[in-house]
This record gives sequence, C-alpha cells and structure tokens, in this order.
Amino acid sequence: MTMPTTPAERAILLEALRWKKFPVLDDGFVALVDCMGDDGSVVQAARVSYGEGTRKVSDDRQLIRYLLRHAHTTPFEMAELKFVVRVPMDCWRQWIRHRTASINEYSTRYSLAIDSMQGTHDGEWRSQAATNRQGSGELLPKSIGHRHTQLEMELQSFARRVYEERLEAGIAREQARKDLPLATYTEAYWKIDLHNLLHFLALRMDPHAQLEIRRYAETIGQQIVQPLFPLVWEAFLDYRVDAMRLTKLDREVIQRLVAQSGKRGLPASHEAFLAAQHPSWASLERSRERDECLQKLIALGLVEAGLPDVPGAPSSDPVHTSTIHPSRSQP
Ligand SMILES: Cc1cc2nc3c(=O)[nH]c(=O)nc-3n(C[C@H](O)[C@H](O)[C@H](O)COP(=O)(O)OP(=O)(O)OC[C@H]3O[C@@H](n4cnc5c(N)ncnc54)[C@H](O)[C@@H]3O)c2cc1C
Repeated sequence: MTMPTTPAERAILLEALRWKKFPVLDDGFVALVDCMGDDGSVVQAARVSYGEGTRKVSDDRQLIRYLLRHAHTTPFEMAELKFVVRVPMDCWRQWIRHRTASINEYSTRYSLAIDSMQGTHDGEWRSQAATNRQGSGELLPKSIGHRHTQLEMELQSFARRVYEERLEAGIAREQARKDLPLATYTEAYWKIDLHNLLHFLALRMDPHAQLEIRRYAETIGQQIVQPLFPLVWEAFLDYRVDAMRLTKLDREVIQRLVAQSGKRGLPASHEAFLAAQHPSWASLERSRERDECLQKLIALGLVEAGLPDVPGAPSSDPVHTSTIHPSRSQP
C-alpha cells in the first residue's frame, strides 16, 4: 500500500491535483481547489487528545485505523478540502442535502444559466428497479433509448430557446430561468472537512445512491481523497465502504442457522434460512428486514446464492450487485 509521502513529495502531489478537472458525466467535473492537512494531521490531532504516552505504541496507520473503527471523528475534522464542481441540478439537489459543507453556487439571477444540459445516450436509459422503489434496474434496449434521447434533445433545445427568447424580451434572468430543465449544469465551490466528506462519500458511493451522484462521489474519493489521504482512505474502505453491519436480529438468525445446520453444513438453503428467521418476520409475506438479512447472509456465504423459490423472498437487483451494502437502504 502507498505510504505517506514526504512534505516535498506531498507538495508536488497537491500541486498536480489542484485545478485538475476530473470529468464526470457528459459535461461535469470535479476539481480540487485547495486542501489543508494530510494523514499526519489526523494523527497529530489525535495524539494531542491521547497525550504523549501512546506515541510509541501506535504508528500512524494503526492509530488512524483505530480512530475510524471506533468513530473517534474529530481528528478527521482537522483536514479540509475545497472543490469546484460542475453538476446537473437534479444531482446537485441531492448533493446539497449534506449540510456540513460550505457552498457558494453560480447565480443564475446574476449570470446567464450555463448553456449545457446533461444528455443521455441511447444506451444509458435505465428501467425502474423491480425491488427498490427509488432505484434503477437493467439498461433499456437502445431501440427504446434512441427515442428518448431524441425527445430529450428536442426538449432541452426548446427549453433553452424559450429561456433565451425571454432574456431577449427583457425578462429578468431570475424569472426567465424558471423552465430550464433539472438537467442544466450548475457550478459551485464546495468546502468540507474530511470527516464529513467521508460521510458524504459513504452515502453517495453506495450502490443505493443514484448513479449520477455516485459517479461524482467515486471521482472525488478515488481521484482526490485516495492519493492525498492514503491511510485514511484504506481505513475508510475497510471499515465503512466494504464493511457490513449486523443487527441483533441478524446475529440471532445466524446463531440459529449455525445451530440447526447439522450434517448438511453451510451454506444453508433458503428454506433453512426461513426456518431460522426472526419470529417477528415469520408471519409477514414481505419483509424488507428479512430480505436485507438474507442478502447479508448470502454475501457471507452462510446461505446459498441464487433466487429463493419461496414467497416473499427478494429478487436480485442488478444495480446493487457489485457490493452488498445492506445497511444503506432507505426505509
Ligand atoms: C440513498 C439515499 C436516498 C435518499 N432518499 C431521500 C429521500 O427520498 N428524501 C429525502 O428527503 N432525502 C433523501 N436522502 C437524503 C438523506 O435523508 C440525508 O438528508 C442526506 O443523505 C444527508 O445526510 P446527513 O444528514 O447524514 O448529512 P449531513 O447533512 O452532511 O450531516 C452530517 C451529520 O451531521 C449531523 N447533522 C447535520 N445537520 C444536523 C441537524 N440539523 N440536526 C442534527 N444533526 C445534524 C447528523 O449527524 C448528520 O448525519 C437520501 C439519501 C441517500 C444517500
């Protein structure tokens, strides 16, 4: 794994990253404007709170991993990152739900709206997810997508024409913009400390987040946070992104499953899972909590993979197959 760089190497790395536009979607980007701190800033802050004594027993990596594992969060607030981003407004609407950042957005009252709207190629239209009301399923055939790409182009160019005609007629920019599509790009400065950035990334890199904002979060994480904070990033992947939370009910199901597995061993069948399920789920034909528990146990290799042949059991969700992050689903 990459170890922290010397101050000189770090300065070179930072200069190489600053203002570099990492493209996202068809016309968006993220760029780092400035960064205060590194892995060492987290360690330095933590050691003040831990006192001199621990300096000998824990190296930087172990300390960072300990802090992240045990949610000692304030040392991660000692580092700050400032970005400039270009994002379609529908995506930005999700982004700014994260209240712990400082934001300054391009004003379309003051300036002309950016003349760019996110376009969708023929092969990029997604079906509604069968199992998740707010997710996407499989890609639709290009033949269907083609029509919707054409309609999108017509709609976007019509909306822009109406906007410009209003401006030419002397209508105020703040009113002329009202019918611009949510696909219109906006730009903003976004400054956030490392702790809250990791929180944002954990939520928005998750497969349950919408694909578009996921692309931004992945870019920020992999292209910017990873090189600048390699030790924090490693711990973040281990303890947040690729971790799995087991509830008390999940643990009880596992204990019953193991106890009843007998000679057959594990992975158990889906019928065995249903026999071991939590009593409060047993009378329910559909239970999201049971579905989530099953997904976790399949991911752990404790229950057979594949579609269960039982009523009320979950079907596969293609958007969520890359990694299992069961703790993230919304109610
Ligand atoms: C997959 C997904 C689906 C979503 N679906 C919906 C939806 O359907 N509808 C919807 O409205 N939203 C939805 N959201 C937004 C979500 O509910 C949160 O508003 C958003 O993710 C910001 O999370 P946060 O509040 O933890 O983050 P931040 O605002 O960055 O806050 C970070 C943390 O600071 C603390 N904090 C910040 N402000 C306050 C405060 N005022 N009071 C107390 N504590 C505070 C909290 O501990 C919080 O977790 C969705 C989010 C995701 C990731």
